[in-house]
Amino acid sequence: MPDGPALRQAASVAVIGGGYAGMAAAATLAAQNIAVTVFEAGKQLGGRARRVEHRDAALDNGLHILSGAYSETLRLIQQVNPQHASALLRIPLAWHMHGEFDLTAPQLPAPLHLLVALLSAKGAGIAERLQMVRLLAALKRKGYRLEQDISVELLLKQHQQSEFMKRVFWRPLCVAALNTPPAYASAQIFVNVLRDTMNASRAASDLLLSRVDLSALFPEPAADYVKQHGGDIKLGQRVTAIDVSGDGFVVITGAAKETFSHVVCALPPHQVGAFLIGISALSDTATMIEQFSYQPIYSVWLQYASPVFLPAAMLGFADGPLHWVFDRGALCGQSGLIGAVISAEGAHQDMSQEELGALANAEIKRRLGALPELQWLRVIAEKRATFACTPGLRRPACITPLKNFYLAGDYTASDYPATIESAVRSGISCADHIAMPIGTRRV
Ligand SMILES: Cc1cc2nc3c(=O)[nH]c(=O)nc-3n(C[C@H](O)[C@H](O)[C@H](O)COP(=O)(O)OP(=O)(O)OC[C@H]3O[C@@H](n4cnc5c(N)ncnc54)[C@H](O)[C@@H]3O)c2cc1C
Repeated sequence: MPDGPALRQAASVAVIGGGYAGMAAAATLAAQNIAVTVFEAGKQLGGRARRVEHRDAALDNGLHILSGAYSETLRLIQQVNPQHASALLRIPLAWHMHGEFDLTAPQLPAPLHLLVALLSAKGAGIAERLQMVRLLAALKRKGYRLEQDISVELLLKQHQQSEFMKRVFWRPLCVAALNTPPAYASAQIFVNVLRDTMNASRAASDLLLSRVDLSALFPEPAADYVKQHGGDIKLGQRVTAIDVSGDGFVVITGAAKETFSHVVCALPPHQVGAFLIGISALSDTATMIEQFSYQPIYSVWLQYASPVFLPAAMLGFADGPLHWVFDRGALCGQSGLIGAVISAEGAHQDMSQEELGALANAEIKRRLGALPELQWLRVIAEKRATFACTPGLRRPACITPLKNFYLAGDYTASDYPATIESAVRSGISCADHIAMPIGTRRV
């Protein structure tokens, strides 16, 4: 292989998978004028964060919450579509557990905003609020590093959190952030999330909700950006094999074969193993990924005949069966559309979609009172929404033992659980590693 500008001309990168990780890699490569082709099996981009069209409505496969700490996601959204800032609704840190607990951060500089939010939270006694402050202070003193990774439940016990605070705040926060039950969720990853959201700037603790569907938020503008920079996006092209060939890789889709100098494999973890296992240099990586287990997320969409006014655009229900409800009327102008989320495993997995839909409707009615007529509902079950984020889980690095072959995805090694931000960061990291020997810097 040549190096310097000659390598930049000779390099051709296949990005396999057009989710947030793959599109982050592709946009970052395209920005540096490196030839890139994205292969996406689906008819649209976004993967586990994508638009689902139902009747005349643009739904999402799952309601997503972003945070102000998603610095790389926010930067890339801005890079691929500078006009797109209004696509995200930014809400100062707020936690509304319907009828039980309310926490809202005031307009004060960090960390005062958090201290006041915790101490003025409604629904909890002063002793419980002080215990929360003490827990965060103790984590800060230890530099947010645990001596040993334990479960979130054990961490909360060690820090003497009350049963009430566990029920209305800590456990729902753990499930929302890690999509893993606290009894076996990684306390270290949970602490990392607290560090980057609650111990950083005021903006980092903001919640961001998309006003557009998740394909339109980033992957589609990223695809336009890639094409404007000379790249190619191949939709509906399922890669069936990746063969190592001399200095490069042959990517096979159906009857077509194309050769590339580099591969960024941005497939979901439960599908990537099938490609790695046949490549001897990557068999250990494949074995590591095989150890993963997965957690579901169910979304129930309910379309009512007229607007349903929720007390907050994102409202929590402690003690299930629904965890959060979102007002898509307020967020996206989709009048009367409510999205309900059930994260992680539970009894709901044994229900039929009809039963789950009926339960969601009844539960919202029980909590909020009379509702307008229900016109339709749709349940979307993502059975392997994320890997189970358990203590000490080994995750593979983006750089693999095979030269010029990279892994991107929310499951690769990072401080974060499976999130949009971990996916995006992994994609950027792969692109940066590819660009580095070429002597370019990210713009
Ligand atoms: C319901 C739900 C709710 C979630 N909520 C949140 C949230 O609130 N906040 C948050 O930050 N994160 C959330 N997440 C997690 C977040 O969506 C993921 O971490 C992120 O989207 C993963 O992106 P990825 O690019 O790593 O993988 P994926 O999105 O899985 O992308 C992989 C892509 O590869 C494609 N593909 C598969 N096989 C092939 C093949 N053979 N050839 C070509 N292409 C192929 C797939 O179609 C897909 O587009 C949620 C996830 C789900 C499912």
